[in-house]
Amino acid sequence: MPIGHALSLADVAEKKGKKAIAKTKKPGKYEPGNFILKVKRSTAGLGLFAGEPIPKGKCVIEYTGRQISKEEEYSSKSQYLFEINKNKTIDGSARSNTARYINFSHVPNCEPEIHKGRVFIFSIKNIKAGEELSYDYGKDFYEEHIKPKGCKCPRCLAKAGKNKENN
Ligand SMILES: [Zn+2]
Repeated sequence: MPIGHALSLADVAEKKGKKAIAKTKKPGKYEPGNFILKVKRSTAGLGLFAGEPIPKGKCVIEYTGRQISKEEEYSSKSQYLFEINKNKTIDGSARSNTARYINFSHVPNCEPEIHKGRVFIFSIKNIKAGEELSYDYGKDFYEEHIKPKGCKCPRCLAKAGKNKENN
């Protein structure tokens, strides 16, 4: 048998071995886990809820969308714009972007993380099955879109409830 041939067979065996390892490796930090998530009615319209417990520190879902130009960003009426950096903004208004259902909260259980120009939502608390997912959209969004209508996050609803009791 020519030496070359013997070597290539060894190569194939090695490659096969590597593939087997790759298949069983743990998912990367920025790979959403296959958590059951449900879109349901919440205190602030529709919301996204955990269908099973989600441990703290897990990549829950990617916030996906179409990349838009700066001009489009200024004229867009979409409330689902996510500014990734100075040059890149995505419009997450497509229904396929399930992460768009995650509501704002002053006491969030998730947090977005930007990685290589993409947005991933991470759990920052242990989340129980049935709990609504939320993150802080940032001050600008809050001032412009949430404050005028009144925040309906658990903390603000509890405060509003107490005020009612006192009146
Ligand atoms: Zn609030």
